[in-house]
Amino acid sequence: MDANDELKPYRNCGIQGCNDSALPLSEPLRCYNHIEDPDKWFDNVLSTTVTPDSQEVTRGSIARLTHDLYRNLLLNNPLGQDLYSDYKSRINNGNNAAYSFSDVVYFVLIAASSGIIGNFAYDAVKKSIKKLAMNNDPAEIEAIYEKVVRETKYEELRVQYHPDGSCIIESTSQLQMEIQTRYRLVTWKHPDCNHK
Ligand SMILES: [Zn+2]
Repeated sequence: MDANDELKPYRNCGIQGCNDSALPLSEPLRCYNHIEDPDKWFDNVLSTTVTPDSQEVTRGSIARLTHDLYRNLLLNNPLGQDLYSDYKSRINNGNNAAYSFSDVVYFVLIAASSGIIGNFAYDAVKKSIKKLAMNNDPAEIEAIYEKVVRETKYEELRVQYHPDGSCIIESTSQLQMEIQTRYRLVTWKHPDCNHK
């Protein structure tokens, strides 16, 4: 089977009883709700569809569409939805729509949900995020994190997911690596695409 076959949209999810379309290039075939490793899937999409000499508009479009899908996929769980709607309810009442849903906002929401699942302190996630600032100003990304993910909301959810015991104060290399992979993928830009 060649790559063109794999990009056809009509193949179904391989989970028994699920009739949804599989995500392009998912292996095994999995739909939006059943994909097990979104990072691996999106990485695979990029390496297959975007090569340095790739000129084809269709391949660029597929990569852009799957990029949006990937971002949403990472928040497609009860925890992600809680964080997302907490942020959304606050921007609906305020101003600052400019960066409302930029890649960085998605990234901090996703990083926070990794932190909560791993039972990390709010500040441990913040430190990990700041290390990844790369081209951005660390103070700027810290400010976005604090604005998008309220500490009280974070703590409320963390305690809900980890009712006993205390949390992990320091970031670990595992958390750092997970956050780093997602930073790279979530903030990925198609070479032809200038949007922020
Ligand atoms: Zn499915």
